[in-house]
Amino acid sequence: MGDSSDTDLQIINRFYQNEEACIEALIAMKWPTGFVCPRCAYPRCTRLTTRRIPLFECGRCMHQTSPLVGTIFERTHLSLMKWFRALELFLLPDGISAMRLSQVIQVTYKTAWLMLHKIRHTLGESDARVLLSGDVKVNSDQYGRNPSRCQFPHPHATAVVAGCTLTESGEPEQVKIRLLPHKRGDGRRPNRLELDEFITRNVDVRTSAVQSFPLAFRLYTPLRKLVREAWDSLKSTYVALGSKHLQAYLNEFTGRRQLHLAGTKETQQQRLLKLLSMCVSVTAISYHILIARQLNSPLAAAA
Ligand SMILES: [Zn+2]
Repeated sequence: MGDSSDTDLQIINRFYQNEEACIEALIAMKWPTGFVCPRCAYPRCTRLTTRRIPLFECGRCMHQTSPLVGTIFERTHLSLMKWFRALELFLLPDGISAMRLSQVIQVTYKTAWLMLHKIRHTLGESDARVLLSGDVKVNSDQYGRNPSRCQFPHPHATAVVAGCTLTESGEPEQVKIRLLPHKRGDGRRPNRLELDEFITRNVDVRTSAVQSFPLAFRLYTPLRKLVREAWDSLKSTYVALGSKHLQAYLNEFTGRRQLHLAGTKETQQQRLLKLLSMCVSVTAISYHILIARQLNSPLAAAA
């Protein structure tokens, strides 16, 4: 590998040094209290180890299942070592581009691109399952616009609704940024109706005190800063992103931020395990569904 000088990429899997360790970690994540037959819930099985990934045969109904079924690793032809490495690199502060990942783990660009999108999809699905709850702030904002350079037009800025819960010190905790791709161009922002729609879909209104900020000059500043941070972070890794997959990249940013929130108290392995637990509970998005999302930009446009 030509990356030996790049210290960021040196965080080698210290915990999962071979394929077996990765498989065992996955099995433990999939069945934390031991095997349970997905068909009849019987708790005993025979482990068949003739294949690369072990199969588990239920002791009652004889149903055979793999620990990869129903995870983003299902039907993968890659080693789990490569997947674990990709997950680790995805957790770098600004993530990793498909080009870079393909070089580091020695797969094709297309494979790396698809792996990263599967991980992004996992974060998006996991995020969608948790509503914002508590003290919630919601901004009508724009992604891709630098507020300190107001005199310049931002033709590619896109309207976003951003919402967050707050820590005790008033900093954004759980964050969601939702793109309104049809509102592209300078000055186009979500209206009150779109803010309300965001709240209906993303906030547990029964348990929350929600404050909306519909006016451009009076946004909730810590949340506005975060949308700006998302832009800076995604720009630094992916350079230019088309609108087709931009929502997935925004999910990546907020999801990774969430995984890093526990800060220095949490180890790299704990973060990896959290991400892994999402990966075993979300079924992979297929390549065909991924590229069919919208037809307005080519595959390579999203690095
Ligand atoms: Zn069974």
